Amino acid sequence: MIDVHVHLFPDEIVWRFYAWIEKKHKLKVVMPIEWEKAFEILKNMGIKQIFNLTHAVTPEYSKMLNEWQGKLKKKFGFITFGAFHPENNEELLIEAFKQKWIDGLKLHPPVQKFRPDSKEALKIYDLLEELKKPLYIHTGWFPDNGFQYSAPEMYEPLIYNYNFPVILAHMMLGKTKEIRKFLDERRNVYTETSNALINLETIDPITGEKVKWLTEDVIKLIEDYPDRILYGSEIPLIWWKPEETLENIHKLNIDEKIKERILWKNAVEFIEKYIK
Ligand SMILES: [Zn+2]
Repeated sequence: MIDVHVHLFPDEIVWRFYAWIEKKHKLKVVMPIEWEKAFEILKNMGIKQIFNLTHAVTPEYSKMLNEWQGKLKKKFGFITFGAFHPENNEELLIEAFKQKWIDGLKLHPPVQKFRPDSKEALKIYDLLEELKKPLYIHTGWFPDNGFQYSAPEMYEPLIYNYNFPVILAHMMLGKTKEIRKFLDERRNVYTETSNALINLETIDPITGEKVKWLTEDVIKLIEDYPDRILYGSEIPLIWWKPEETLENIHKLNIDEKIKERILWKNAVEFIEKYIK
């Protein structure tokens, strides 16, 4: 199995995540966030390869995170989506690709506080188009700010004006139906299951509306786009049992062949096509 949504960060950053989950959201972390312990859990779940995602929480961490990814890549052969912040110089990203530290870029608009259709975002997309490198980007509801930096329509310029491969994280959590038009627009747009298969309901901090994570739309999307959806867990930044991310796929009442595609075949094809 291949898990395409994993966050193994260096230990000196891990305290930030504990603070964010436990202090800010009053949630109990159910698994260790330290990378070696999280990696052990992944191996015990039967995960053979991961896409490791390290977005830049603040601009000064970008270079360090990309070097970190380079080390993991060398040692474990992970697929690495590295860090860049709109406030960083473009050279930083060019260098990270040149050094082969990273295979693609991870952006997290709700954490990095920029809209995916903003001028600074488009500048980053221009650079990726030039470099012909894949982008992995957060989509859908986020605990801190709802859809403020991740409403479906904000991804229109990215999908309609560029050609590099894109993984839209979380199946546009909370508004999954809206992702269909993007998957229809071009063949090299993908999405993944992290958070979307968890049976949770949250309250939007901005609008006060209920947000349901696992919906009928999620299951229909899997059935209608079996070649474009990858398995992701969000380990270790989760507050439910990590194994649940896998169990919930196995429990789905869909063709076993589709499950196989999601659990590893689609990711293998993605790597063959866009990483190698
Ligand atoms: Zn994530």
